Amino acid sequence: MILQSYAEGNWYRGAKNPVPLYDAATGEQVAESTSDGLDFGAMLEFARRAGGVSLRQMTFHERARMLKALAKHLMGHKEEFYALSSATGATKRDSWVDIEGGISTLFVYSSKGRREFPNETFYVEGEPERISAGGTFVGQHICVPLEGAAVHINAFNFPCWGMLEKLAPCLLAGVPAIVKPATSTSFLTQLMFQRMIESGILPEGALQLVCGSVGNMFDHLGCQDAVAFTGSASTGKMLKQHPSVSDNAVRFTMEADSLNCSILGQDAEPGTAEFELYVKELVNEMTSKAGQKCTAIRRALVPRNLAGAVSDAVQQRLASIVVGDPRLKEVRMGPLASLGQREEVGERVRELSASAELVCGGSGDFEVSGADAGKGAFFAPTLLYCDKPSSQTVVHDVEAFGPVSTLMPYESLEEACALARLGQGSLVGSIFSYDDRVVSELVLGTAAYHGRLVLINRDCAKESTGHGSPLPHLVHGGPGRAGGGEEMGGARGVLHYMQRTALQGSPTTLSAVCRRWVTGAARREDTVHPFRKHFEELEIGDGLVTEERTITLDNIEEFAALTGDYFYAHMDEAAAKANPFFDGRVAHGYFIVSAAAGLFVEPNPGPVLANYGLENLRFTKPVYPGDRLKVLFTCKQKTARAAEGYGEVKWDVSVTNQEDEQVAGYDVLTLVAFREQQQ
Ligand code: NAP
Repeated sequence: MILQSYAEGNWYRGAKNPVPLYDAATGEQVAESTSDGLDFGAMLEFARRAGGVSLRQMTFHERARMLKALAKHLMGHKEEFYALSSATGATKRDSWVDIEGGISTLFVYSSKGRREFPNETFYVEGEPERISAGGTFVGQHICVPLEGAAVHINAFNFPCWGMLEKLAPCLLAGVPAIVKPATSTSFLTQLMFQRMIESGILPEGALQLVCGSVGNMFDHLGCQDAVAFTGSASTGKMLKQHPSVSDNAVRFTMEADSLNCSILGQDAEPGTAEFELYVKELVNEMTSKAGQKCTAIRRALVPRNLAGAVSDAVQQRLASIVVGDPRLKEVRMGPLASLGQREEVGERVRELSASAELVCGGSGDFEVSGADAGKGAFFAPTLLYCDKPSSQTVVHDVEAFGPVSTLMPYESLEEACALARLGQGSLVGSIFSYDDRVVSELVLGTAAYHGRLVLINRDCAKESTGHGSPLPHLVHGGPGRAGGGEEMGGARGVLHYMQRTALQGSPTTLSAVCRRWVTGAARREDTVHPFRKHFEELEIGDGLVTEERTITLDNIEEFAALTGDYFYAHMDEAAAKANPFFDGRVAHGYFIVSAAAGLFVEPNPGPVLANYGLENLRFTKPVYPGDRLKVLFTCKQKTARAAEGYGEVKWDVSVTNQEDEQVAGYDVLTLVAFREQQQ
């Protein structure tokens, strides 16, 4: 069966030079793959022309709902994916991370898209920048989707997650993608991809698939395209140096290999929870996905006096791991993804053995459950020990992409940090200690070399997501050898597919362009109170200026009595005067906020349903008894929530005194009803 690619809206079966793909455990052929005959330039053009245009017409919320529908659809097919996943060598547990972990990335980005992005086609980033003395010329960053295509090149180890973790932020940004899975496990990616296309949820051109080589696609990359690569540093480096990438400044994100470390604190002696947790996690990282995780622990850094105890405990645990056919329930570790990988890992272990002694495992025979060890790509969990790691380079440089870790002793925290840094940049590191001073020293000594640090102790272990799991909320990627890239990380990952543009202009123009009112922009006041307007009727800039209210000493004392807040600055004239900020007793800040609401609120039942919070509250000047306050109240931003039957309206509130000086400024958040039922 030759796997079909999906190009320009059609399924396509290549003909020439198919590469056979095998079941990792049984050695039987599963499929064949070739992309021969695909027009790669036309695929890019189709993505830009069809997919990009459709996606850019959708708002973030529409794209987010699309991701959720896709996630639900894929969940409905998960049993099919699990059934095929074992042919990649994955146990049920490994497959769960790949399949449901991948789908959950879509769910998380869907939720973030609706909560953290506006219901618009573009994103206004940060607050306006005041860049002129008079405030008539201001700056604002906006982010718009790139108008090209994203090329996603994935590694073989996570055929589902690897595709979905890239697609989620990319599609949410409004950018179409061409997925190129690693060939050896592409049969699983292809199945999941096919289910996505069949769902009809995505606009035409939003997704295309290449099973096999990407041919001359890189020759056709243009200045609006982006590449996200996951794989070995050598392939990544070669692709990054492609002339089209450098000539067109194509965005290139690289997630490469990494010699991740895990450090055991000096306090974590045998018998402590942290010692047990460390050993458990090390064995888990060595054996889950048969150690074929870019985030796996390759270097276990332990205090020299604990090295023997760690080694014994790890060997004891490894002895209970059943290796074999991943379809069997009792099997904890399956084979590597291919026989080629078994050769490769064996070679790397031989290289490592020049600087480290073999504690257990290695390339020799070992017990394999329910499978023919000669035909499947099985490799024994392998622990090495390097006694003088500071003077060795190989153990910090050679990645055996399998169930392989090297134990290394350290004498001091300083040496532990230095050893961690010898990895030359890693995706993740972890620290196991119940002494937060130790953790703090290790974090500050190693953070510059890591994309993520996991700090485990007895208090968080139970809920911890573990050393090796990248999460959609947090950055995945690392400096230096790890590729220097960043993926996911919540909203950050979406912005990787967008162009950040600095706008400079008048507040009124920027309000109109950004659909967000900027201080100093034109405002409209009419006879209708803004609280009497439904969501559709409100316009950015609608507002009012309230009557004045005089603040009295009685008000301050009544507010203190009502709330129990008798802070001296409100109650004691001499003590308030002694304070460097005040000339005497001042009104409570919270009283000013409450009094302001009393000035701008329209009390009768109407379209405003609720106030759900304040943002950016600042008290900018003290308010003294006798001060006269008024409020400038302006509709700042509207976010439609059609599905919920209301919209969110953010109001800019500026409270000023009789000298027109601002005493408080903030945003009020309200929910406002639609006049008409929304679709
Ligand atoms: P690889 O050989 O570099 O392959 C990675 C991807 O690049 C595959 O899809 C491969 O396709 C493709 N590729 C290879 N040559 C290409 C070319 N000339 N033009 C375009 N694409 C090309 O890496 P691998 O051995 O499959 O993966 C294992 C490595 O990936 C390990 O070193 C691991 O640390 C790293 N990894 C990193 C991460 C991370 O997030 N940082 C995650 C997983 C794995 P074919 O399969 O068709 O050759």
